Amino acid sequence: MFRIGQGYDVHRLVEDRELWLCGVRVPHSLGLLGHSDADVAIHALCDALLGALALGDIGKHFPDSDPRYKGIDSRILLEHVMELVRGHGYEPGNADITIAAQKPKLASYIPEMQRMLADVMHVDIDRVSVKATTTERLGFEGREEGISATAVCLLQKV
Ligand code: MG
Repeated sequence: MFRIGQGYDVHRLVEDRELWLCGVRVPHSLGLLGHSDADVAIHALCDALLGALALGDIGKHFPDSDPRYKGIDSRILLEHVMELVRGHGYEPGNADITIAAQKPKLASYIPEMQRMLADVMHVDIDRVSVKATTTERLGFEGREEGISATAVCLLQKV
């Protein structure tokens, strides 16, 4: 009846890249490096959704060796994962994402991120939680070398 999943992802922060988190462009001097748009939060969410149904991970479904996914908007990956979820007869109960970034300050973008994810997933906004934390300058996130994200989700059979 119920399935839970968790996901984790990390991308490196570099110059001359846009910063995309939860499908929202966040103004910053650095952006995340990756084959896709490197939206670390959506990637963690996709892995949680796939994990809940034991369908492997985002790298299996969208290999970074595949030129079709070069520079792709991660919202398209999330749409595809949601089609898989619904194709298996499940609906999201809720999802909860935590982004660990020293900079930039994300608090003012959180409502837009939640709205964006709810739109892409076709769920009510109160089923999608996005949180952000710094790591008190500790670790790679704290040194602003990268941003990490974790996600959990609950799926229910419909
Ligand atoms: Mg990734």
